[in-house]
Amino acid sequence: MKRKKIVAGNWKMNMTLDESIELSNGLININKSNVDIMIAPSFTNLYPLKKQFDAHQIDVIAQNVNQNSKGAFTGEVSVEMLKSIGVNCVIIGHSERRSLFGETDQILCKKVNYATSNGMNVIFCFGEELQQRQNGNYFDVIQKQLEVGVLSLSTEQIKKVTLAYEPVWAIGTGVTANPDQIQEIHKFIRNLIHQRFEETISNSIRILYGGSVKPTNAVEIFNLADVDGGLIGGASLKFTDFQSIVEAADV
Ligand code: PEP
Repeated sequence: MKRKKIVAGNWKMNMTLDESIELSNGLININKSNVDIMIAPSFTNLYPLKKQFDAHQIDVIAQNVNQNSKGAFTGEVSVEMLKSIGVNCVIIGHSERRSLFGETDQILCKKVNYATSNGMNVIFCFGEELQQRQNGNYFDVIQKQLEVGVLSLSTEQIKKVTLAYEPVWAIGTGVTANPDQIQEIHKFIRNLIHQRFEETISNSIRILYGGSVKPTNAVEIFNLADVDGGLIGGASLKFTDFQSIVEAADV
């Protein structure tokens, strides 16, 4: 099955409003006939970028969301707030949220469950740490992250999910997993989805790779059978790099 590729830029805690607008002025001109582009800016820049991108087929997505609908949760942002400004997709489970902000598999499960039951699309991130890769138990780690995070969702909910395999040892390090390592895991993930859901779901769900994707390795990674695009950190902050990565996916 042909799946349309996604290139999603995660800007993390970078970019003031002016810097965001300047980079976005370039992004709107990127040729993107056969690829879905998503940009995840900080919360403060969601609404202005949404207005700027709306006429240019670029989706603005959030980097995080709370698992409750409203209430005394100082500093948090809800699904309803995001939807009220037209943002319909959120990244959940990024390794930085897990390691720096204590988001456990159980918390992430609640976030995914709440978001997907309330009309939100989710990019669910997961992946093993270096030691787990070296110990050889990375299949178990990934399977557990998926079991808790998404495998108990309903069919309607899983249709709202895109998966992003991001080996922690490759994020922001310049070290990229090699093509065999990436394809091995992506195939394993698609099989897990197939065991739990109907074949149309496992064939259509998009599985992104994230971890030091650059213009020099994007073509090779995006050509892998079970890779449906990328979640891009550092390279999404540089216009020419991001443009080249989008071109690599636009096939
Ligand atoms: C990320 O943070 O999701 C990521 C993939 O970062 P980088 O591309 O910089 O490795």
